[in-house]
Amino acid sequence: MAEKKKVKKEKEPDITFYHPDLLAVPENEPPYLKGYKCKKCGQLDFPKVAPCPNCWGEEFEMVPLSRKGILYSFSDLYIGQPGLETPYICGYIDLPENVRIFAMLKGEVNTFKCDEEVELTTGQIRMNADGLPITSYMFQKA
Ligand SMILES: [Zn+2]
Repeated sequence: MAEKKKVKKEKEPDITFYHPDLLAVPENEPPYLKGYKCKKCGQLDFPKVAPCPNCWGEEFEMVPLSRKGILYSFSDLYIGQPGLETPYICGYIDLPENVRIFAMLKGEVNTFKCDEEVELTTGQIRMNADGLPITSYMFQKA
């Protein structure tokens, strides 16, 4: 007797999140980056820098950062490495909280412009050693 064929497709491998301490992805809500505010002097950093480079404080409060910012600068990159397909785009994003974020940009090369508005999203930044996608924060055109 022939076995009944499986109708359901095999479960996709779990996506591996990179930097879960820096990126929050709440269910049914947009993702946000976690800024860390020094409880002593109020300096806000992303990622967390401990001790605080301004006052050597060691206690921090997590502050959700704005999801939109201005693209300060970027590069289209054509040289990859294992697990990283080319071309890809990296840039610096200035958030209203006066924090500059370094991140990969989601989109096509030759389409970004400095000073344009971008917003936080998530996406595949590379593959791990097993060939599974690693998802983390990225920015895309707002
Ligand atoms: Zn401080």
